[in-house]
Amino acid sequence: MPPNGFVSLVGAGPGDADHLTLGALKALQLAQALLYDALVSEDILALAPQKCVKICVGKRGDRLSVSQDKTNELMVRLAKKGLHVVRLKGGDPSVFGRVEEERQYLDTHDIGHKTLPGVTAASAAAAQFSFPLTHRGEARSVTFLTGRTKDGAIDLRDESISDPMASLVFYMSSHNATHIEASLLRAGRSPQTPVVIIENAGRHSAQLRTGHLCNLAWLVCDASFDGPVLLGIGVAFAYARKLIAENLACVEVEAKHNSERLMATFGN
Ligand code: SAH
Repeated sequence: MPPNGFVSLVGAGPGDADHLTLGALKALQLAQALLYDALVSEDILALAPQKCVKICVGKRGDRLSVSQDKTNELMVRLAKKGLHVVRLKGGDPSVFGRVEEERQYLDTHDIGHKTLPGVTAASAAAAQFSFPLTHRGEARSVTFLTGRTKDGAIDLRDESISDPMASLVFYMSSHNATHIEASLLRAGRSPQTPVVIIENAGRHSAQLRTGHLCNLAWLVCDASFDGPVLLGIGVAFAYARKLIAENLACVEVEAKHNSERLMATFGN
């Protein structure tokens, strides 16, 4: 029997490879077996060695291609072959990532593991569309919530729901927009509270829709989504800016122009 391998539980970030940490990149480059979520992008998968075994254990909402139990078993089976297994998860493994279930299973089977953080979808969205999640004097906390729970119930009793200075970010919740809108209005949130709906955060295909709490459900209904979606609710989201891609192109042109000017002035 070979000695047991090791499992790295790695956050891939929510979008393209730019969001990977250096630690995640190193783990990927040393992967002998890769178990990855459906939300992990192709350019990230391409960073693993060619001969590394790559298995999609993708989960998208209700559609489970591989059950959590199977994923756990697969991790252990591969590690028991003495392999370095990378369990690559979308975003940050510690945010709605079931990482604790996986760690406990590995502990039970005596497999060593470590967790590497990733950029969560809310952080990527905030950077991409230039809004803060907290803002001095206006938004003093941020709460990550979900409209999807294990037993299918939604429980919105969190205190932040009614706090006008709390930013709320809902993961896995676009199908529950009607319920969320009604619950927040009932809890006393102003109908004019800014909302954002962000699809594919951290990717070139990202889409931002903006509005107010009183038309959240309508905004979600009116859109057809192909990718993963976040809902942001709170005053901080009023700062969302749309033209980031164009701005980025301008910055690149300007940077090139400036470096050419510097070269001309100071030589090489
Ligand atoms: N661990 C992940 C979240 C996994 S739960 C993280 O930290 O980001 C899956 C949910 O995350 C999706 O249903 C969606 O609500 C959100 N999500 C993941 N990637 C996203 C993306 N690129 N854009 C918008 N939302 C995303």
